[in-house]
Amino acid sequence: MEPLLSKAASKPRALTHRELVELLTFPDAGALFAAAYEVKVREIGRRVSLRGLIEFANVCEKDCFYCGIRNANGKVDRYMMSADEIVSAAKWSYKAHYGSIVLQSGEISSKSHIALVENVLRRIRDIAGDGFGITLSLGEQSEETYRCWREAGAHRYLLRIETSNPALYATLHPSDHSWERRLECLRSLRRCGYQVGSGIMAGLPGQTVDDLASDIEFFASEDLDMIGMGPYIPHADTPLGHGVRWNTEDKTRRLELGLHMIAATRLYMHDVNIAAATALQALDPEGREKGLLAGANVVMPNATPLVYRRNYRLYPDKPCLGEDPGACRGCLERRINGVGEQILWNERGDSPHWRKKKDGMH
Ligand code: SAH
Ligand code: SF4
Repeated sequence: MEPLLSKAASKPRALTHRELVELLTFPDAGALFAAAYEVKVREIGRRVSLRGLIEFANVCEKDCFYCGIRNANGKVDRYMMSADEIVSAAKWSYKAHYGSIVLQSGEISSKSHIALVENVLRRIRDIAGDGFGITLSLGEQSEETYRCWREAGAHRYLLRIETSNPALYATLHPSDHSWERRLECLRSLRRCGYQVGSGIMAGLPGQTVDDLASDIEFFASEDLDMIGMGPYIPHADTPLGHGVRWNTEDKTRRLELGLHMIAATRLYMHDVNIAAATALQALDPEGREKGLLAGANVVMPNATPLVYRRNYRLYPDKPCLGEDPGACRGCLERRINGVGEQILWNERGDSPHWRKKKDGMH
């Protein structure tokens, strides 16, 4: 193996900033992905954890410049699933043996919303028990709210920092959106006992390869348990994506960048959960499988009822818009087995990094 790759594979966090930059621009992508995959197999096995993704509301109080469901986008048909609908979508994932779900929505801070989520969590736990994993991805909330949801049964929380560079963050958000607050939220989540996940978008305007290397160092310095990142995909109805033209070559470049980030993160962090984001599949029908072969170990099949799914468009070309969750399940297993990986049915799929910390090995 090339010396830089074997140095990275030999122990976690072995590389300097410059060496991380070298990984991210590594010319032999095949060798990079193979080295990252080897680390993934050693730490986790040829195994993939599933999370049924339930996008239960596209209402959002925020206005991130890149996101299709931002508050100011008047073209979106807004929906909010009822508690019964959310519980029944969760039950579907449980019965489909997925082992865990992600509940995701726009950011909503009202008391009634906080109570609805709490109620839904308790009902899901009553049905599926604590062995069924529940991840939340509901944006920035108070520590009190995070604690309430944790006590009601949530195990994990995903909150992307989007970029570890506060100056770049400021160009992607209105001035009342705060990078520091987001960081504080990640720390609150840790205090509340969640497995904490974060991540970034790769390919943002103004983002450099230095920024991406710093992002990976940020994941390590915050001691994250899970990483969810994907390529940025311009959405025409947003300030950042308006008027952006792009072609197949741009798609390939974005996909490659997303895969390089997965591989470099696996080579730097070793034992964290890394998701092969749906945005990869939006760029290439085989994007998710490519993500697995570059070092990811988590896939999030869409489990949102079809009637709502088309209205939850953070970015264009979202895959599986016309397929019901049952069809997704069959297609997914074939695809994952096709690249030599096995699905961990009925398992919560906790982060090995978090488990080791819990057992006192870190
Ligand atoms: N509102 C919550 C969860 C939903 S948004 C939150 O913001 O945390 C989930 C993620 O979608 C965001 O963190 C962002 O990284 C990603 N996203 C939004 N717009 C995107 C785009 N145009 N391309 C790629 N990813 C995007
Ligand atoms: Fe809302 Fe999340 Fe989209 Fe920002 S990224 S506008 S918080 S849904």
